[in-house]
Amino acid sequence: MGALQPPDQASPEAPAASAAAPLYARRQAVYPKVVRGRVRRAKWLILALCLLLYYAVPLIRWDRGPDMPSQAVLVDMQAGRFFLFWIEIWPQEVYYLTGLLVLGAVGLFAATSLFGRVWCGFTCPQTVWTDLFMLVERRIQGDRNARMRLDLKPWTREWVVKKALTHAVWLGIAAATGGAWIMYFNDALEMTPRFFTGQASLEVYFFFALFTATTYLLAGWAREQVCTYMCPWPRFQAAMLDENSLVVTYRAWRGEPRGKAKAADVGDCVDCRACVNVCPTGIDIRDGQQMECIGCGLCIDACDDVMTKLQRPRGLVAFETLANLAASEAAAGSLPPGSGRRACGMQARRAPRFLRPRTLVYAAALALVVAAMAGAWLLRQTTSLAVIRDRAPIFVRLSDGGIRNAYMLKLGDKTPGVEAYRLVLDAPAGLQLIVLDAEADPAGAPVLTTRPDGITQWRALVTAPAGLRLPESLPVTFRLVDAQGRVAVSTGSAFLGPKP
Ligand code: SF4
Ligand code: SF4
Repeated sequence: MGALQPPDQASPEAPAASAAAPLYARRQAVYPKVVRGRVRRAKWLILALCLLLYYAVPLIRWDRGPDMPSQAVLVDMQAGRFFLFWIEIWPQEVYYLTGLLVLGAVGLFAATSLFGRVWCGFTCPQTVWTDLFMLVERRIQGDRNARMRLDLKPWTREWVVKKALTHAVWLGIAAATGGAWIMYFNDALEMTPRFFTGQASLEVYFFFALFTATTYLLAGWAREQVCTYMCPWPRFQAAMLDENSLVVTYRAWRGEPRGKAKAADVGDCVDCRACVNVCPTGIDIRDGQQMECIGCGLCIDACDDVMTKLQRPRGLVAFETLANLAASEAAAGSLPPGSGRRACGMQARRAPRFLRPRTLVYAAALALVVAAMAGAWLLRQTTSLAVIRDRAPIFVRLSDGGIRNAYMLKLGDKTPGVEAYRLVLDAPAGLQLIVLDAEADPAGAPVLTTRPDGITQWRALVTAPAGLRLPESLPVTFRLVDAQGRVAVSTGSAFLGPKP
């Protein structure tokens, strides 16, 4: 039975096994080799787009009128506003941001289900900045072999100069990244001179330093360890993958048994390790699906290059579904190399099934969230009126016997213009409405004027003359009526008095 044993009766193999597998292992340095090909070109293009977006977006201007920020994308912490081109989100509308986050999450699930770890391999900031840092490293220290040689002889003059230069450029990129980050929270054109003359706030310098340091450490030092040990996504992305997801695979049915190109009875893999040498996480795709594989596809380019030189069809390593891999294996795996195995295996493949229950559920969820957000946006009111009735005292008895309630009115306007509204009290005849410090229209009704993109507060008094018989609690409604006579906003409240 598998009962627990006291320590003195434990199996003698147990300590030996734990000694054989230490819980800590030093990081093996990875020296990815430069690679050229279709995937690499696509990655350069995506990298350039992502970096351009990140660094340039705070510089885009957007005219919102006087006294309004003219930066297209801005999180204005002081005013509590998020500006996104023509869209302006107030704190109480944070559900739009929640909707955007849900969209991003479901979109990521859908993309993973269709194309595997396409996010990790192409657009994740960790991948993008690490790729950029590796480019700098390669330009200064040389390709894989040169870098390995350099690291074998530290503290030579060449080592010191090349390493210092590399780290200096990395720090420059990291500082630009931290600098761009704070511009999303401050007007870039106004903040830049203040930043360089030491007039920015402590928070600005703190977040600049924080993002500079994290960029430098994560992209320069931690690199693949972020994906392997720190990021939770590889742990649960397997739940979104199935046998019809496109992932980077090694077609073992075609490549094995691997061996020298001129040897007889071997598959297409010549065991050159080109795919391993270009891998940014240092793994061997021929070992099958691994959590460390970020799906960047660089091993595809490396192997295609080898196959082209050997005048063999490309695609020994390819974006492929596990279903096709199994079908090819079943059709051709038992055939000896060079006997039509390649053709037989490729014929067994089917077009990837993009429409599957899983992807349809993701698509439906995406459509639902988009529709909900669009509906909420179309029905969004740009004017709001909050009515807060005084609670202490709940009413005042006047010297002439009348009863008075006081209210705080908060008039919000989410547009850059100024609007004037007539305030009308929907209540039984006899109740009188006064708004302190408000102008009045020719009929004597109070006129409230909004503040562009802000809230104005007004004090309103509602009085019931002596002798008017009212219930203890009377529902009343405050209405804002525009110049065309349309009701813009209605807000309910109550008029309280003594027990009849
Ligand atoms: S195995 Fe290939 S796809 Fe996976 S991380 Fe390495 S190079 Fe990228
Ligand atoms: S690059 Fe291609 S041929 Fe070379 S080891 Fe990798 S899979 Fe085999």
